[in-house]
Amino acid sequence: MASPTWRSVKVIASRDSFASAWAAALAGTGYVAMDRARLVGAIHELAGVLTASLRADSFQPEPVEQVGAAIVELHLTAPDALGCTIRLIGEELLRSANATAEARARERIPAIQAAVATGFAKAAREWVYREQEVLRRAALDARDRAEAAGRASEARFRAMFTEAAVGIGISDTKGVLLEVNARFAAMLGYSTEQLRGTEISTLFHPEDRSEMRTYFEQTAAGLRDHYRIERLFRKRDGSPLWTNVTVSLVRDDDGAPKYLVGMVEDITERHQLQEQLRYQANHDPLTGLANRALFTERLHAAFGSGEGRLALCYLDLDGFKVINDSLGHVIGDQLLVAVASRLDGLVSADGRLVARMGGDEFVVLVVNSTTVDEVVALAEEILGCLAEPVRIGGHRLSVSASIGIVERSVAESTPAEIMRDADITLHWAKSDGKSRWACYDKERNAREIARFTLSATMPAALSRGEFYVDYQPLLRLSDGKLYGVEALVRWAHPEFGRLAPDRFIGLAEETGLIVSLGRWVLTEACDQAREWLDTFGPDAPLVSVNLAARQVAESNLVADVRSILDGAGVPPANLQLELTESAIMGTTGKPLEVLHSLSDLGIRIAIDDFGTGYSNLAYLRHLPVHALKIAGSFVEGLRDGAAASVDTRIVTALVRLAHTLELEVIAEGVETQAQVDLLRQIGCDSAQGWLFAKPGPPEEIERWLV
Ligand code: C2E
Ligand code: CA
Repeated sequence: MASPTWRSVKVIASRDSFASAWAAALAGTGYVAMDRARLVGAIHELAGVLTASLRADSFQPEPVEQVGAAIVELHLTAPDALGCTIRLIGEELLRSANATAEARARERIPAIQAAVATGFAKAAREWVYREQEVLRRAALDARDRAEAAGRASEARFRAMFTEAAVGIGISDTKGVLLEVNARFAAMLGYSTEQLRGTEISTLFHPEDRSEMRTYFEQTAAGLRDHYRIERLFRKRDGSPLWTNVTVSLVRDDDGAPKYLVGMVEDITERHQLQEQLRYQANHDPLTGLANRALFTERLHAAFGSGEGRLALCYLDLDGFKVINDSLGHVIGDQLLVAVASRLDGLVSADGRLVARMGGDEFVVLVVNSTTVDEVVALAEEILGCLAEPVRIGGHRLSVSASIGIVERSVAESTPAEIMRDADITLHWAKSDGKSRWACYDKERNAREIARFTLSATMPAALSRGEFYVDYQPLLRLSDGKLYGVEALVRWAHPEFGRLAPDRFIGLAEETGLIVSLGRWVLTEACDQAREWLDTFGPDAPLVSVNLAARQVAESNLVADVRSILDGAGVPPANLQLELTESAIMGTTGKPLEVLHSLSDLGIRIAIDDFGTGYSNLAYLRHLPVHALKIAGSFVEGLRDGAAASVDTRIVTALVRLAHTLELEVIAEGVETQAQVDLLRQIGCDSAQGWLFAKPGPPEEIERWLV
């Protein structure tokens, strides 16, 4: 390459300074999308084109226009870029031209400026067009894509809506159905067209309508965004449709409720199965009545409210076991079914439930009872409806029932308490004679509890020595002398104090403890007789001991008595045994033998409370009896000494008859001197009563003997 001439060096230097100034000016116009070195390099080239066109012999605008375009191409499109370029061309480009050409160059500067501006403008317009086109394309593409996606999702949504296996309905916030799918319409037995425009609540089952409406309205008002409930619709043919409904609220862009979308699943089958299972779990398979589980559930529910009253009629068939055992279980079952259907027919009113509790026990629950009279009336109706004989397999079966009634305020009791009391009351009805009702009675229950407590604790009391014996004088009326004493047992109860025999003898008879208690009394009395024999010799009183019927019937009485007498060393003549008429009458077989054996031993037998029982004097003739004790109730009538009274005449007749039978007569319960006088006049042999002495400890008897 030839070395540059001085002139060419000068040209290059001036062109460089223009280029540098130009690059610096452009860089100051704003964001430049390249680094400084590349910008300067590019501008240098453009500057070369401009200086060349300035010096060229003839001016060609195209290359210069290209320079303007190149500036745009370099992304130097800020508004100032063209301005500073035009200004620099005017001020600096000329300096890069040599002196000879200066005049022509000066003329050419505006043409260069115009060509640069033209090129810049053209290129800039192109560039904007291009940019707009890109944007337009991009926008179009985006729209196309969105539309395609929208169409696809719309199609999917449509398919889902129409083909869905669940029913779908869309309503406005007033509940008017805007759109329903085929499944929803089919479920209810309508066509989709029929449902469109329908008010949704008209499809709700009347039973569930108000609740479903409440949910709907709350959602439509925007108070909740969705809900899910298991509810009933009504099909076109009126039948119920069990559904699982999920409703969602769709809001508009401002958040205001716009639509409600409901998904409805037909669960009728599942529901029916559940119902069937629930029915089976709650009903007695034989009679179809509610069973114990359902009854208990209802009872607890009634108590759950915490207010109002309720009643139970707890009933049990009388003698069902006999029917079952004699005619067989099949007949027994049929009888139960017949009874159940009568009860059900009678007690089907609202708030009443008949349940079979098992076996032949039924219960009627009356919720919101008003008075016990209302329930008694119901119990009487029940007894009446069962009184009609039942025809089963050629048999005419008569059944009766016993009913225990409990009626009370819910707040005062608990389910367990009322059940227990109903059971107790049923037993009262049974023990009161069957085929009747009994009402719960607090006092009776308290008495029974006390009785139960006593009877349960009696055996321990006997072994702990809580019993003792008092003695009451028996006096000969002819001379007023004490010849015997009646032994009367008492219980020194640690909690209830001194208990009279009336409180516990009956219980002891029921439980059978009377046998060992009676034996203890006998032993105690014989030991006492021995002491008196030791002290008073021939003046010692005989002891008269009461015997309960059960002692005669069940125990090894004769052997016991003999060994007790032997043990105490008391002669049989010093012992008298008192038995009531009922214990003696009808005595055949073993008890009669017992009486004879006792009498043969030399023991005296007295009939206690004579006159209150059979009073079969003729029969007495055949019994080994020595004395009659005339019941205090007859002696009571002699109290004022009226010789002409009925009681006086009865006692007179009794004494005569007794004497005819060679029986001695003892009057019980003598409380007045008038009675004594009258009795003596009548010829009664001896007497016992408070006038002489109340029953008391042995020491008090001794005062009579010294
Ligand atoms: P009971 O055999 O008729 O005994 C007489 C009862 O009359 C006694 O009552 C006695 O306290 C009471 N009494 C005596 N004098 C009078 C009187 O002037 N006026 C009145 N109002 N009552 C009088 P208690 O001691 O309460 O005995 C009641 C019953 O208990 C006896 O009636 C007897 O049946 C039975 N009992 C007592 N001890 C025994 C016993 O050891 N074994 C058996 N099996 N029963 C007994
Ligand atoms: Ca007695």
